[in-house]
Amino acid sequence: MRVLLVEDESLLRAQLKATLEQAGYAVDEAADGREGLHLGSTEPHDAIVLDLGLPVLDGLTVLQRWRAQGCDTPVLILTARDSWHEKVAGIDAGADDYLAKPFHTAELLARLRALVRRSHGLASPLLQHGDITLDTRNGMVTRQGMPVNLTAHEHRLLSYLMHRRGQVVSRSELIEHLYAQDFDRDSNTIEVFVARLRRKLGADSIETVRGMGYRLMPAA
Ligand code: CA
Repeated sequence: MRVLLVEDESLLRAQLKATLEQAGYAVDEAADGREGLHLGSTEPHDAIVLDLGLPVLDGLTVLQRWRAQGCDTPVLILTARDSWHEKVAGIDAGADDYLAKPFHTAELLARLRALVRRSHGLASPLLQHGDITLDTRNGMVTRQGMPVNLTAHEHRLLSYLMHRRGQVVSRSELIEHLYAQDFDRDSNTIEVFVARLRRKLGADSIETVRGMGYRLMPAA
């Protein structure tokens, strides 16, 4: 999953970026509204964290422009403490959720997980496919009830496929959603990660759909 973080306070932005990366997200960051608007308009993200108080272009305007352009990425806004009218204006402008500053990062992560889940039509935090389960709350993956150890990249790939259960996901879509903008992307690495996941989860866990991409093997 790939997240866009738009926050002008550099210390908070650095902390949030580290927290999000630790939680397994690929993170793009922007320090002002114009940069945020551009990144959100041109790059695919699975969720956006948008501070409303931004220089150059305020967060509310950024959000309104994204929605006017047809961008339907889930957006969580960060608002000033006790500013109820900011929350109302943000939600009316198309935000899906909000957090008032200061907040606990655990709450931000929980709200982001829920936004990503719901955008894929999933209600339960426990994702299941055949004998494979992924608990999005703690990242734990099991196969037939036994824990499976995955690297960060393997985990991100499996998580994306689990959120898109039953659908064929192209290699280019995977690359766009697994790596941040500044990451050196090599499409061959997707094949390497798929091969590693098959070794850990079973050869028949991920199906290659010729010329189209990959999908979790439909349950027999
Ligand atoms: Ca701010």
